Amino acid sequence: MGRWSAAIDPAWLHHEERPTAARLALQWLGTAGFRVVFGEGGAEHHVWLDPHLSRHSLAEVALTRLRPNLQRIAADVDRADAVAVGHAHFDHAIDAPEIARRFDARLYGSASMMEIARGYGTPEALLRPLVPGVTVNDGPCSLTAYRSQHSRFAFGRVPAPGDVKAPLRWPAHAKNFRVGEVLALHLAGGPLTVAHLGSADLIEAELEGVQADVVLACTVGRQATPNFTHRMIDALQPQLIVPCQWDRFWRPIDAPPLQIPTNDLEGFLAEVRRHPRAPDIKVLPLRGWLTLA
Ligand SMILES: [Zn+2]
Repeated sequence: MGRWSAAIDPAWLHHEERPTAARLALQWLGTAGFRVVFGEGGAEHHVWLDPHLSRHSLAEVALTRLRPNLQRIAADVDRADAVAVGHAHFDHAIDAPEIARRFDARLYGSASMMEIARGYGTPEALLRPLVPGVTVNDGPCSLTAYRSQHSRFAFGRVPAPGDVKAPLRWPAHAKNFRVGEVLALHLAGGPLTVAHLGSADLIEAELEGVQADVVLACTVGRQATPNFTHRMIDALQPQLIVPCQWDRFWRPIDAPPLQIPTNDLEGFLAEVRRHPRAPDIKVLPLRGWLTLA
């Protein structure tokens, strides 16, 4: 399979049924979207990270104002206790306000994410702006955000730069979902710690002393970030990496996943294996589950 091949070698994919009694499990929903389930003590606690279920087509993204696809959300979200978003681009932020509203779940994110949710009508009482370096407890989960940065993959720039400074008027064009503050999310409180990098860049100085057993790593755009893969492993020292945002997130979730043409998942896997720590890698299918503990 060629370096730039869009198809995914089925042998790369980890297949697992939804676990029923895991202490810590996760599900990948395409793009940078995950649900992390804390199951300690029998009561489940579902934390959604950058959930993106709407998956508008490229034509819709380019030409129309976007709103969440309520049917898609209803089909995939059966429970949410908290939603946390690492940056406010549409493919990370568009579904979070509806999931929070629908399930009375707390919504964590940047000031821009709060304005997007405010404009959507998510109740103010659910909005929890994140302060970098400050840990918040949500059920068994301890969530800390760290300052991060977005891959400059668009001709050396970050698309839709700046902040959302007032409640977003919905429906909204993709370009109105401005990136806002970019945050690396770190979840503790379960048997393993989990970090989420929703864009392929990081700031090592902000992550000093931070370790994550599992890193959910965006891979698209990593070529624009010098030595991203090894720097990420050096900074967070994970045992396991789950790559994300490698799929063409404008395709239906039921279609076989194809890589974003520039993504090069094969190259990413080779880079991870070349690192002296050689952390394990699990590539999940769309909606795929992974028991962590
Ligand atoms: Zn982005």
